[in-house]
Amino acid sequence: VNLQATLDDIAGEIVPHLGVGKVADYIPALAQVDPHKFGIAVTTVEGESLLAGAADERFSIQSISKVFTLTMAAEFVGQDLWQRVGREPSGSAFNSIVQLEYEHGIPRNPFINAGAVVITDIIASHCPAGGVKGAQGTKTAIVDFLRQRADDAAIDFDLEVARSEKAWGYRNAALANLMKAFGNIVNDVDDVLDIYFHQCAIEMTCRQLSRAMLYFANDGTDPLTGQLVVSAERARRINSIMLTCGHYDASGDFAVRVGLPGKSGVGGGIVAIVPQRLAVAVWSPALNEQGNSHAGTLALEKFAARTGYSIF
Ligand code: GLU
Repeated sequence: VNLQATLDDIAGEIVPHLGVGKVADYIPALAQVDPHKFGIAVTTVEGESLLAGAADERFSIQSISKVFTLTMAAEFVGQDLWQRVGREPSGSAFNSIVQLEYEHGIPRNPFINAGAVVITDIIASHCPAGGVKGAQGTKTAIVDFLRQRADDAAIDFDLEVARSEKAWGYRNAALANLMKAFGNIVNDVDDVLDIYFHQCAIEMTCRQLSRAMLYFANDGTDPLTGQLVVSAERARRINSIMLTCGHYDASGDFAVRVGLPGKSGVGGGIVAIVPQRLAVAVWSPALNEQGNSHAGTLALEKFAARTGYSIF
């Protein structure tokens, strides 16, 4: 497979589809992004990186942060994690509150907002970074984890996006408070939300994200540094959750069209992995109705079809 030619072809074919859909506007700072942007990057387990389009432009990773925080939380508490969050697709929108009441404050999975907030709460209980406790230490620990995974110390928060999310975060605040009432948030609700908004507001490029995801394609070990990030078993489990729950209410659709474990975010980014081979990241800000990048999903569908790299 000529990966560079594949990416170049996709970047050309995708042009008529750019701007179809809507940028996320419930976070005002995200509404200002140009909906016609497109970038795609592949990093192979051999360390080769291939790029097309705006692959070096930073964007808000949003919910893609949730695969990394899930990794961190699983390392802290292991199997106990599943006492506090489920692992079933929700069948509802990513920010839905209805199931939480019926299901006694236990979110369906770690990738819907409620589940991700619980994961953030777990991290907040376990990682005072550099001896700094509380929200600041936890935010630092999360961004440091991403810098290590991407091997790039320049990765940082977009503080404007974090502020914007906080200012308009009524729904996430409702989810967090409801879970606190059920006893499923341990730390101070405002601190947990502050950390959550910041992790979503981390800015990265397609190139950095494809590099950062590589451990999921290599049984939990970073193939370029040899560092064990998570056990092979845990990496396999997180990949399964990406496949079944990684794309909100369109996870089934993504599995059918692309057939790779992946995670999307409302900033328009999507990451996916091809086991034993590579990680791919794509970005285009205009979203379909379920909150996934329209052109990004299409690009990954083309990528899987062209390369034959589906896990099925
Ligand atoms: N920060 C966003 C929110 O909490 C993340 C949503 C997403 O990317 O799915 O609403």
